[in-house]
Amino acid sequence: MGINYFADLHLHLGASTSSHLLWELAHEQGIKLQEKNYWDFIKKLEIKETNNNNYLRRLDKNNHSPFFITQLIQSSPYAIEKSVHQTISYFYRMADVRLIEIRFNPLLRNRNGEFDVDKIILSALIGMQKAMIDYPIKAGLILETDRQFDYKKSKIIFEKAVKYKKLGIVGIDVSGPNPSSKFEILSLVDLYNFAKKNDLKTTIHTGEFTDIDEVWQVVEKISPNRIGHGIVSYKDKKLLEAIKKKNIVLEICPTSNIKTKVVKDWDEFRKIIKFFLKNDILFTINSDGPEFFNTNVKKEFQMLLKNKILNKNQTKKIISYGFKYSFI
Ligand SMILES: [Zn+2]
Repeated sequence: MGINYFADLHLHLGASTSSHLLWELAHEQGIKLQEKNYWDFIKKLEIKETNNNNYLRRLDKNNHSPFFITQLIQSSPYAIEKSVHQTISYFYRMADVRLIEIRFNPLLRNRNGEFDVDKIILSALIGMQKAMIDYPIKAGLILETDRQFDYKKSKIIFEKAVKYKKLGIVGIDVSGPNPSSKFEILSLVDLYNFAKKNDLKTTIHTGEFTDIDEVWQVVEKISPNRIGHGIVSYKDKKLLEAIKKKNIVLEICPTSNIKTKVVKDWDEFRKIIKFFLKNDILFTINSDGPEFFNTNVKKEFQMLLKNKILNKNQTKKIISYGFKYSFI
């Protein structure tokens, strides 16, 4: 590719930790897995082509999604430290990543309050700091709240993010599938204002499985530094203008969007990216869930080049945006 190093600003810890580590962590901690065979376990975690956000809800016979399994295994101070360390070191070695922002939800990592959430966050930060001693890489953690959480739980996460800012929490996010009862993104406006007032960087998953109306609300009422995905905004030129005017950066995750059918195929992806480039929309390329989707940020750029979605110069520019628009 002629370019040596990459930044990955959008990846979820639950979908980024190597399956073999999860398998070992489960056994080390005495967690009973449904699969007795390692390869069945792998099959359960990998995401093939799916329809819309079904993969988030793909349940086994115990009604557990892949995310539930990885969250359960990562739910201890020991396991989360190991997971963060392994994720950072792995992508340094395998994908020439030199800057990485990993996101996770600490309240989905403490076994419903069995573990102290402060210890969980601190252990994740220790794993990150150790990885940065072991490898020349810059790293930061983003705390996520969930669309299924009530306001009280979200508030705890925003407050913890501010509390641990000095130790390496670089931003805040909201993710997760929309609950059946209607979730209102605007219910989080004051928490986002609280984060901004405390100099915490902000991003929000929107415009992936949610519609243009929600992206409008996010842009106008919350105005985060970045948006997770936001890919649907290409359908609305006025919305793109608003995004551009506010210098909001879109975190684009190509393979993720293709595999979940948010974008139909690479041809549609090409149209969208060309449109973004033509309209000077700021965006970065990211892996989202490299282990689940069998990708990494380097592979994402290789795919974009191969499918003639970006040329060499555009690739260079977008790679540099990953470093420029990092929260670190
Ligand atoms: Zn995501």
